[in-house]
Amino acid sequence: MCHDGSGTAGTPPASRDHPPQETPNRRTFSRLLIAGSGLAALAACTPEPMQPPSSAFGTATATTEPSPAAPSTAAISPTESVAATSAGTAPETPPAAPAPSAAGSAARHSLTDPASPWVVVNKRRPLSPAAYVPVDLVQPSVRLAVSGEAALLNSTTAAAAEGMFAAAASAGVVLTLASGYRSFATQTLTYNSYVDSRGQAEADTASARPGHSEHQTGWCFDIGDGGGACSFQPCFAGQPAAVWATANGHRFGFVVRYPWLLHPITGYYYEPWHLRFIGVDAATDMHQRGTATLEEYFGLEAAPDYL
Ligand SMILES: [Zn+2]
Repeated sequence: MCHDGSGTAGTPPASRDHPPQETPNRRTFSRLLIAGSGLAALAACTPEPMQPPSSAFGTATATTEPSPAAPSTAAISPTESVAATSAGTAPETPPAAPAPSAAGSAARHSLTDPASPWVVVNKRRPLSPAAYVPVDLVQPSVRLAVSGEAALLNSTTAAAAEGMFAAAASAGVVLTLASGYRSFATQTLTYNSYVDSRGQAEADTASARPGHSEHQTGWCFDIGDGGGACSFQPCFAGQPAAVWATANGHRFGFVVRYPWLLHPITGYYYEPWHLRFIGVDAATDMHQRGTATLEEYFGLEAAPDYL
């Protein structure tokens, strides 16, 4: 779901044949790619295995978000926000495990409001409204690999990106903004072109349905390394840009949204280029806990496919 669909590294949906418990290894990943999308050329890529889903996720089977009055201690579930709407106001002092830092704090963010830094959009959680447009889209002052709307982010994410890109540059690592905001209209055109040429089933393996793309929120973007190496391919994980972003993104509020082999939870195969802003405190908390997906962190149901 992270680029306009023109690349070869599409984002096929999760397969029920590959549960998250499967041991991550090169052979497995290669087989997934070959069987799932026919991208045999990508089998040579050897991204680092990610941690398996936490054991707590197995208890997080509720189909609705947890009640603010009864936060779950077993399912790592911060509650829906009614208090905070801006980024950067997450709690400063994490409580004891297993709850994430947000739990038990007055400062929380909505998981459904697309203007919230914690909104979770996936194949089972469409944007509402479907044609949502951020009111504060801006073009960040970073190295751009795109123009037009794809060079835009919401203002909070743009500011965080500027800080992260500058820090990477100081470390000698080039990051480029490869794809940012994508409107409902653009997503509709992209998705429909796939449906017209390949049919809906295959379209769903390569392009998010309109109203289901995180890119429409302005809270995420795809990165490149300036040279195009492994662009939008799993082997991008081995490029300096991805290595640096994976290790340091949380310091600026970003997480890698679609981790290695967790497509049964996220609905998308590994995308080391797709970074999502959730705020420094939450991103750092996820990093420290080793919680890899927003679905697990917020105690939401897995979203391997559309209902
Ligand atoms: Zn993306």
